[in-house]
Amino acid sequence: MRMTSSFIPTLRETPAEAEIPSHKLMLRAGFLRRAAAGIYTYLPLSQRVLKKIMQIIREEMDAAGGQEILLPIVQPAELWHATGRWADYGDEMFRLKDRHGREFCLGPTHEEITTSLVQGEVRSYRQLPLLLYQIQNKYRDEVRPRFGIIRGREFIMKDLYSFDQDQRGLEESYQKMYQAYGRIFSRCGLETRPVLADSGAIGGNVTHEFVVLADCGEAIIVYCPECDYAANVERAECRPQPKDGTELLPLEKAFTPGAKTIEQVSSFLDVAPERLIKTLLYKSDGEVVAALIRGDHELNEVKLARILGTLELEPADEETILQVTGAPVGFCGPVGLKNVRLIVDQGVAALANGVAGANEEDAHLLNVNMGRDYEPDLVADIRLVKGGDPCPQCGNALLGARGIEVGQVFQLGTKYSEALRAYYLDENGEEKPMVMGCYGIGVTRTMAAVIEQHHDEHGIIWPMSIAPFHVHIVPLGDKELALAEELYDQLTSCGIEVLLDDRDERPGVKFKDADLIGIPIRITIGSRSLSEGKVELKLRSGDWEGKLPPDEVCAKVQELIASKGA
Ligand code: ATP
Ligand code: MG
Repeated sequence: MRMTSSFIPTLRETPAEAEIPSHKLMLRAGFLRRAAAGIYTYLPLSQRVLKKIMQIIREEMDAAGGQEILLPIVQPAELWHATGRWADYGDEMFRLKDRHGREFCLGPTHEEITTSLVQGEVRSYRQLPLLLYQIQNKYRDEVRPRFGIIRGREFIMKDLYSFDQDQRGLEESYQKMYQAYGRIFSRCGLETRPVLADSGAIGGNVTHEFVVLADCGEAIIVYCPECDYAANVERAECRPQPKDGTELLPLEKAFTPGAKTIEQVSSFLDVAPERLIKTLLYKSDGEVVAALIRGDHELNEVKLARILGTLELEPADEETILQVTGAPVGFCGPVGLKNVRLIVDQGVAALANGVAGANEEDAHLLNVNMGRDYEPDLVADIRLVKGGDPCPQCGNALLGARGIEVGQVFQLGTKYSEALRAYYLDENGEEKPMVMGCYGIGVTRTMAAVIEQHHDEHGIIWPMSIAPFHVHIVPLGDKELALAEELYDQLTSCGIEVLLDDRDERPGVKFKDADLIGIPIRITIGSRSLSEGKVELKLRSGDWEGKLPPDEVCAKVQELIASKGA
């Protein structure tokens, strides 16, 4: 492709809308333009990258036994009513009506429609396992679309759904996908880390996210440097703590005027935060729930919601707190609390002689002990794990990191097959629900994540395997253009993808754009090296550079491409 006839609108300045490197660089290098919040146009360079990522995904999905289909984006509401997700999905779902007033949504995901397809077509165990996938736009009206295509409202996803006879079959399908995901991301030049994750609204138990470590990432993970434990903090477990064996002291009331926060109570009473008990009130499905955690810990709302089996969890408002506890915010505690379910974190259960609110303005109780002063409804692990906490597998200190989730695999079980009656007849003619899994990769998010991992202050550094072109030819002046054209033809005829900067621009401008766009191999043709009968070759990564006679260029380029796994 010649630059004079291509649509690569590079920008000198970074548009104000961009916060993180991938977003800035995709705008500046002419890959992307914004149409509305979280909705983007992909320009030719992006399209070339996306096609390569999709090709890698297709090869790996096909190799793992997947068959590609294309499901509708517009999906009827009835299917979503059947699984309860028409209500559960909430405002994130884009909903619409047809001219007859019938309700539809723009697919945020495709479990319902795939299950209903299979329900209508598959009868026998002989037709299983079945692995169906598609690569298509998804629509989610995200609360906070941000970071360009990392969190868009319209984005491209690969989603595969597996249908098996039983749990063992599902585990095999899951394993195949897990392995395939590792290969896909590494072929895209991405370093990812699979982490245990929470399954949230989708259902099922076992699930892993594939996370790219990056400071801008919205996924917070912990991992163990000593063993293979790695988990999203939403899911990460705490080691149970041994009970503090200190002798129990008598309950006492202390006057704590105006001391509401952990810091205030801790300094007023001169008690360490780890001996304080935070009592957090939530409203969930019409009831009030109190979550008790230690003063130095944070509550993990995802764990709490999972334990309560709810999707609705909302901090109680001031009025409710006053009504339930008889005291203003800041003085709530478990002793004497009525009509409230008490969910106690293991850390609090292990505590002896803790300090808690007295359910009375300006008062706290000292020497609060579970079992003696209050009864829990449930003791559970509901706190947020953080870096430094002991690994639940081996006890070593966990490390914390942020990352971008690029893919997720789920063991769904029979939630969707039962709701949508996707049953099959087993060998004995017995009817059974198919056991399902689902597996997503954010294709557009993957492109951005690759840039997050591969860039410098001058621009993108594409891995060879998904680069928009392999080679960028930069002739420095008019006199060099003829040789540039010759090399262009030669390389192109060998199947090498070449971008030729045939613009009438200063060398500085051409170099800047070449660095920005980030094509892996650059061939510079200038009078100085030509006087020695050579052209300059350079890898954008900085790993190699050299001078060669023009007739050796093609072989060298082929060798470089092969060595970089294109
Ligand atoms: P997140 O937690 O980041 O919102 P998710 O867990 O809701 O993502 P999944 O339903 O697991 O996402 O979707 C599969 C993949 O689709 C994700 O791993 C991610 O790569 C991609 N994806 C999800 N939401 C978006 C989005 N808003 N924009 C771009 N890609 C997305
Ligand atoms: Mg996910």
